[in-house]
Amino acid sequence: MDNNKLADLLFPNIDKTPEYYEKKYPARKLEAKAEVTRYAPSPTGFVHFGALFTSLVNNLVAKKTNGVFFLRIEDTDKKREVEGGVEGIINTLSAFDIKFDEGAGTGGEYGPYIQSERQEIYQTYAKELVRQGKAYPCFCTAEELEEMRKTQEANKENIGYYHFKYAKCRYLTFEEIKEKIDKGEKFVIRFKCPYTVDDEIEIYDAIRGKRFIHQNGNDVVILKSNGLPPYNFAHVIDDHLMHTTFVIRGDEWLPSLAEHLQLFEALGFTPPKYAHLSPIQKIDENGGRRKLSKRKDPEADMNFFAKAGYPVGAIKDYIMTLVNSDFEPWRQQNKTARIYDFPFSLQKMNASGALFDIMKLKDISKNYLATLSQNEVYDLALAYAKEYNEQLYKSLTENKDYWLNILSIDRNIPKPRKDLSHFEELYDTFSYMFEVPKIVFPENFKSEDIKQILSEYPNYYNENDDQQTWFNRIKDLSEKHGFAREVKEFKNSPEKYKGHCGDVSTIIRVALTGRTQTPNLFDICKLLGKENIKNRCELAVKNLK
Ligand code: GLU
Repeated sequence: MDNNKLADLLFPNIDKTPEYYEKKYPARKLEAKAEVTRYAPSPTGFVHFGALFTSLVNNLVAKKTNGVFFLRIEDTDKKREVEGGVEGIINTLSAFDIKFDEGAGTGGEYGPYIQSERQEIYQTYAKELVRQGKAYPCFCTAEELEEMRKTQEANKENIGYYHFKYAKCRYLTFEEIKEKIDKGEKFVIRFKCPYTVDDEIEIYDAIRGKRFIHQNGNDVVILKSNGLPPYNFAHVIDDHLMHTTFVIRGDEWLPSLAEHLQLFEALGFTPPKYAHLSPIQKIDENGGRRKLSKRKDPEADMNFFAKAGYPVGAIKDYIMTLVNSDFEPWRQQNKTARIYDFPFSLQKMNASGALFDIMKLKDISKNYLATLSQNEVYDLALAYAKEYNEQLYKSLTENKDYWLNILSIDRNIPKPRKDLSHFEELYDTFSYMFEVPKIVFPENFKSEDIKQILSEYPNYYNENDDQQTWFNRIKDLSEKHGFAREVKEFKNSPEKYKGHCGDVSTIIRVALTGRTQTPNLFDICKLLGKENIKNRCELAVKNLK
């Protein structure tokens, strides 16, 4: 058959050649070690936690090598696309501070970066494969393919569209093809696979190492009847023309690697390096491990973290602990370093998949927030509240100085307090600074003692005291009511006392804040002021049973 004639019949409107695009997208001028990586999501729904994980790993590899990291939107599967999906991806990644050197939303020399805008490019290369006799049109209908599958199942044969027995459109003559096209029959373009599934191929994955897998034996579709390619062909063309050196993607693509490598080979392209990431897992209700699921787990959706107000820096730190398990000790030594300075490596990644644990995220977030200044925490809280929490926003803007004072309690000291993990909890954590709290005294205190202590405490409180003098007065009050001045005295002869100065502080603390544990009570008292202290003590006494 005259393949040139066939190529022109199938692609009458394609007048460019691969040479045109090879020239248009020349090799990048980068250092030899520089890696070009990309994050290539499909706009099929919300941005998954695993997506952020994957994008961060790609980002690290590029950053570590002075390379390029770009965003490509893979939207050739129009059936699965959701409305607003592309903007959703771009906005979420930007909200989580994933920065691209180029790509959709950013621009660059190797675009367009949205696959649906690259139709002509894919068709040019598909046309070239037809011209070289490596691809052909297939007119089989969905019903025919289904019939074929059933026959193969019944005969216990491999499933698929393969020669010599099943790839029947491979053998159509030019005249037969022309006749079908003239009749308006729809067709796809299939790749003429030169292998069978019994062949093997050695692959190398940067995380899993070397292994042999079965070849692909199918004549896979490279252009659908709507003229757009499925993932396989788009990946190969795009990563070639965009000069990607390292494809780091989900391990659901590992089984199709043989197919992808065949396409690189047929097109005469050098394939990139590959690393396949295992999905993020979670301990399920029965104690087993399962994938963090888009359907079942609210925390699979990155919006969950944005709405809860986890600081971006903490989320990235947390993801880093899932990327390389030695990140945490490194972070302890390098509290304010950028994550890009961490000695990350793909080889250190866990091939069987990292485990998501929200308690761990909370811990990391508490540590992270504790390293920031009150002004930094305030600014983050304000940005969060502006977007997600009107009431908190009002409180933060109306009482800025007061909030800064609250946030500075136990902060600028060698061991800062770690009680806040996400901003959704900010107001509740400090609600007692604004409202009279609900009070329940621990059961080990006698009402009579509570009453005496709280009735007198306002007289013992002096706004001008320093912390030492302030505490001495609590000790005076303790002594007066039969509590030991010092914890040690109480421990030496507990029978002589009702308790110690710490217990008296607890009574005061509960009356003022409704809690048995708070940041430094001295600072809280100072911020509340004498009037509030007096009112809250009185109220607590009044409400005693
Ligand atoms: N669009 C593919 C996905 O969302 C990307 C895979 C890749 O990174 O190549 O799974």
